[in-house]
Amino acid sequence: MGRHYDLIAIGAGSGGLSVAERASEYGARCAIIESGTVGGTCVNVGCVPKKVMWNAADLAHALRDARSYGFRVQSDGLDWGALVEARERYIKGITDWYHNYLADYKIDLVPGRARFVDAHVIDVDGEHYTADHVCISTGGVPAVPDIPGAELGITSDGFFALRRQPRRVAVVGAGYIAVELAGLLNALGSEVTMLLRRDHFLGSFDAMLRETLMEEMVEAGVNIVPRVNVERIEGAPGELTVRCQSGLTLEGFDTLVWAIGRVPATAGLNLQAAGVAVNDDGTIPTDEYQNTNVPGVYAVGDVTGRAPLTPVAIAAGRRLADRLFNDQPERRLDYDNIPTVVFSHPPIGTVGLTEGQARSLHGSAVKIYQSRFTGMYHALTDHPQRTAMKLVCVGPDEKVVGCHIIGRGADEMLQGFAVAIRMGATKRDLDDTVAIHPTAAEELVTMR
Ligand code: FAD
Ligand code: NDP
Repeated sequence: MGRHYDLIAIGAGSGGLSVAERASEYGARCAIIESGTVGGTCVNVGCVPKKVMWNAADLAHALRDARSYGFRVQSDGLDWGALVEARERYIKGITDWYHNYLADYKIDLVPGRARFVDAHVIDVDGEHYTADHVCISTGGVPAVPDIPGAELGITSDGFFALRRQPRRVAVVGAGYIAVELAGLLNALGSEVTMLLRRDHFLGSFDAMLRETLMEEMVEAGVNIVPRVNVERIEGAPGELTVRCQSGLTLEGFDTLVWAIGRVPATAGLNLQAAGVAVNDDGTIPTDEYQNTNVPGVYAVGDVTGRAPLTPVAIAAGRRLADRLFNDQPERRLDYDNIPTVVFSHPPIGTVGLTEGQARSLHGSAVKIYQSRFTGMYHALTDHPQRTAMKLVCVGPDEKVVGCHIIGRGADEMLQGFAVAIRMGATKRDLDDTVAIHPTAAEELVTMR
């Protein structure tokens, strides 16, 4: 018989680790059940390895640009194996650290797959664990379409397992992962074709961002094929043919990556035994306090289908622990104005309403400020990338309700502006802030 806990988190990813860590700081006895690797998606097959690859891609661009600054650099090319080895060493350090901190916090790590027996009893490989509070934080897995030959492709998980650099890659999809993987592979020297169902990618982003990124990616040599539905994949790994419904056939890919979204990991949890409701798409509906429909059972992170980002899972988990174990009954995550970055080339930083959303909510009360320029870094290079910025303002006091940036440094630029917007900044507040010169960010406080 397993033990009884104040809190059990199912899944040791960003959400589960955060709720258990914070709860144990308040003296709660906690366990985390994990069927895979501690750290979950972000650390093992998400943000962290992706950012390492993005950094490598950024370096490839820097090596190219260095010549324009007078350096006589000669590169012998990328040793993909060495890069992957260094990345994996770094990640092993993080997961080792997690194991140590779980021990330090006296959080029990239960390896194995969790299944509900009832709302407060969880089965792990025949052993039963009970808790007053159960938090479902099982995240999701990459989606693969149900079409002939789909198994010949890989997903983002498979991308991180590649031991050799793919040379001719098809990326199917139009979201964060599709543009990030296509961009970094292109920068690292692979030949990349993106297949989109629509005219554009990043459909939920401000049009200025996705249009500028599309121009930049085409300019950088990514082959973008719009308005195609992939019907089947043929061939063998290493020599793939993509057949589309329109009759279009694309041949000669050594690798195909499915980047068409993620599926919440709820199927094996036996949620019906606990009476927990599930949406048609497999996500778990929660109220604003992360409560499911069953008292004492909560859900945080990707499994809820709300803003599937690491800092969101962390923030929701921490606030839930504050509420349950530190007498903060109103503590909850505000899901408005969540800043997010797409690690594309160039990167995108965005927070708040898009222009389209603002116009449908506020009509003619919307005022847009925008700017488009080539940053000083690129004044000397042979491969200039554009920077574009947009402020979406509303009402007579021009409250800033959206800030959208694409360009070199956008990823690091956004965080501070997100604070200002959360605090209710107006255009005048930005205007009254003294610029930092010479930077690209200064444009955001000098737009007219
Ligand atoms: P996860 O981190 O997925 O953790 C869930 C855990 O639950 C997993 O370890 C899983 O093994 C375990 N589990 C599942 N079912 C069971 C079960 N029945 N029993 C026991 N354990 C179970 N977000 C960002 O903010 N920035 C980024 O740059 C970024 N880049 C990304 C790049 C990629 C390629 C991907 C795929 C995602 C990226 N994300 C990024 C998203 C981010 O990784 C997720 O939002 C985050 O990991 C969600 O955390 P979570 O705790 O909800 O789930
Ligand atoms: P997304 O939901 O971002 O995008 C998937 C897109 O693929 C859909 O929007 C859809 O676009 C397209 N699509 C869906 N089905 C098909 C199909 N059958 N054929 C072709 N295209 C299809 O999913 P991702 O997997 O890219 O990422 C999952 C989440 O992980 C993201 O939403 C994000 O929250 C998080 N993430 C965050 C990152 C970051 O913070 N930098 C990086 C990576 C992931 P359309 O409808 O236009 O065709």
